[in-house]
Amino acid sequence: MTAGRYAPSPSGRMHLGNLMCCLLAWLSAKSKGGQVLLRIEDLDTVRCPRVYADAIQDDLAWLGLAADGPTPTVYQSERSGIYQQYYDILLKKGLIYPCFCSRSQLHAASAPHRSDGQVVYAGTCRGLSDEEVARRSLTRAPAFRVQVPDEEIAFTDGHLGRYAENLARDCGDFYLRRADGVFAYQLAVVVDDALMGVTEVVRGSDLLSSTPRQLWLYRELGLTAPQFYHLPLLLAPDGRRLSKRDGDQSLENLRARYTPQEIIGKLAYVCGLQDTPDPASPQELVPGFSWDKVPKQDILLPEKLF
Ligand code: GLU
Repeated sequence: MTAGRYAPSPSGRMHLGNLMCCLLAWLSAKSKGGQVLLRIEDLDTVRCPRVYADAIQDDLAWLGLAADGPTPTVYQSERSGIYQQYYDILLKKGLIYPCFCSRSQLHAASAPHRSDGQVVYAGTCRGLSDEEVARRSLTRAPAFRVQVPDEEIAFTDGHLGRYAENLARDCGDFYLRRADGVFAYQLAVVVDDALMGVTEVVRGSDLLSSTPRQLWLYRELGLTAPQFYHLPLLLAPDGRRLSKRDGDQSLENLRARYTPQEIIGKLAYVCGLQDTPDPASPQELVPGFSWDKVPKQDILLPEKLF
């Protein structure tokens, strides 16, 4: 049985880009007769208060996109014990090491950068002696990184096709745990999708470059990876990225101006699933849904559509 999922980070109300992702995750699962699960990605409890998680669930239900999988909503903020178990597997394999680098050291002008602008970690703290670690720990709590192999990890995205990265060259050793003990998104997302039985992940193409890292973690942890579908980003009419601070495109504002069917119909039009922006329910879109119709390039929101 196909199990899709929504995995919002509730740092604010959803915007149209988040909603496009939910609509396509729902349609992709439903077109295969599947279900959709909900996981609230609130690892950062300060940035992600429960009120937003509640608002997201209310918005999804109002739109006719409520999660309907067999497991109740999963909150990442309640699962550090589970992440610890999987973290320990990597620790036992000798793959994890403390990193004392400061932000300014990491972002030095000379540091090589990834295609998405992130710094490729140079491995500065890999191989510190136990004495050195003990000495530095007196003045600074370390974060923890995982040592990646010099290996190309390739996969076929269900929407965008083949994508590959050499982890050592293109990414570098990445964080699994912050200095304050909070586990990193990269670990939590892998453990959660696997334990929740998710079979397909639909998400924005800003996470495409995270996927080789995650596939490698699946392998190291002995977990089964889902199929991935990465979506183009939805951009404001002037080409800017939508953000939760863009009040106009937030669900709070949209709900005041439109019916659920009006919002879904306009979004389906933007996604290539309807020829006109006429109102539609999610259910009505299921028979005509196909990934082939969804654009692969970033989508510019037409002026005055919303
Ligand atoms: N929580 C992430 C977000 O809201 C999505 C993570 C994922 O889908 O893997 O952007």
